[in-house]
Amino acid sequence: MDKLIHGTAADDTVRVIAVVTTDTVEEAIRRHGTCPTASAALGRMLSGAALMGASLKDFDRLTLRIDADGPIGGVVAEANNTGGVRGYVRNPLAELPPKPDGKFDVAGIVGKGMFHVIRESGFDIGLHREPYIGSVPIQSGEIAEDLAFYFAKSEQIPSAVLLGVLLQKSEPFVTASGGVLIQMMPGVNDHIVTMIEDTVAHAPHLTSVIKEGATPEDLIRLTLGIIDFEVLGEKDISFQCTCSRERAFTMIEALGRDELKSMLEQEKGAVMNCGFCNETYRLDEDDLRDLIGKLA
Ligand SMILES: [Zn+2]
Repeated sequence: MDKLIHGTAADDTVRVIAVVTTDTVEEAIRRHGTCPTASAALGRMLSGAALMGASLKDFDRLTLRIDADGPIGGVVAEANNTGGVRGYVRNPLAELPPKPDGKFDVAGIVGKGMFHVIRESGFDIGLHREPYIGSVPIQSGEIAEDLAFYFAKSEQIPSAVLLGVLLQKSEPFVTASGGVLIQMMPGVNDHIVTMIEDTVAHAPHLTSVIKEGATPEDLIRLTLGIIDFEVLGEKDISFQCTCSRERAFTMIEALGRDELKSMLEQEKGAVMNCGFCNETYRLDEDDLRDLIGKLA
């Protein structure tokens, strides 16, 4: 089971969150059938959403969305307050050769565009409050740097963001995935900032230590070095979608009686696909007749 922990260091002037998302990302890329580079992009976004979702209160939802001109056509990742994350890419087959250093060319498939952070509250209890949306231009397209830029620009919080996905050619495709978010709060000592920057710069790759079994707590220790920290909370993270057969029926029903009748006559059924988890719900002729009967 994937886990996330959050904590503080240096008298609450440093916030740290770390997550391991190996199983979560495996589930996501298996569902969407993404090519390796698209898998890396989706995995990084899911880890980023999980990290940012760590501070969600009840009935909250956080969405990261990339709208850009690269072959992937956009990426969406969502986290809720119970540790559920889900997401998708517009073109799962987007692929480019690796960069000269052997890494996935995530920036290449993402392209140029905008990075959005959307926070919603109240929607689960029927209160449709205006979402809070922060948008910044994509800086590198590598996602971690874009998140760091978002925090600096939109929230004025200097942050270090590390995200990594390690893949192999056969199942399970994801051998390691996770991320760390370190935020410098007002009043932080310059010496502490320098120490953390130095430790992060020299830390081994996240994925190489996750592959060896590192926990989120190990990841924090790795990025904070000798600075002590206190763990404030922990939660399980998993791929979860809010769709269901019932919801699919409700959405089809909302099309109205005439539309349902023509579906019954022409297509002898209906198909609903959930973009977030790629689950397909099929309604046969009897299902449609039942719905039409309810609407009569
Ligand atoms: Zn779904």
